Amino acid sequence: MADQACIFCDIASGKTGAPLVYQDDTVVAFADIRPIAPTHLLVVPRAHHATLLDAAAQGDEALLGRLLAVAGKLAKEGLGEDPSCRVVVNSGAGAGQTVYHLHLHLLSGRHFAWPPG
Ligand code: AMP
Ligand code: ZN
Repeated sequence: MADQACIFCDIASGKTGAPLVYQDDTVVAFADIRPIAPTHLLVVPRAHHATLLDAAAQGDEALLGRLLAVAGKLAKEGLGEDPSCRVVVNSGAGAGQTVYHLHLHLLSGRHFAWPPG
């Protein structure tokens, strides 16, 4: 659990009523409230880890693997003819992280430039 109020903990637990497009014992996925691509889902562990580095430090490799597996499953099942996608983790303020509960962005439906901004 988070020490302080955490919007993603609240969404994952069903407290906010936000629709979940995927859920299992350890991971949920839901639509980003400010999408930056035609498909923009957030893949989120139920357990609160502030950043990727925090989660890695906890050593829960099964959870980290599960997050990627779910992102891949959602892409395979939901993206239709062209399942090209970008999966992003912003970790820390310098990388653009704004919500301090680990999450993967699953982005699809348009071209993505490389390198990212
Ligand atoms: P990041 O900047 O990598 O931490 O990404 C946080 C993402 O969470 C942003 O894309 C926000 O639009 C999204 N977000 C913030 N609050 C909510 C919410 N209540 N429901 C869905 N997405 C949210
Ligand atoms: Zn949280």
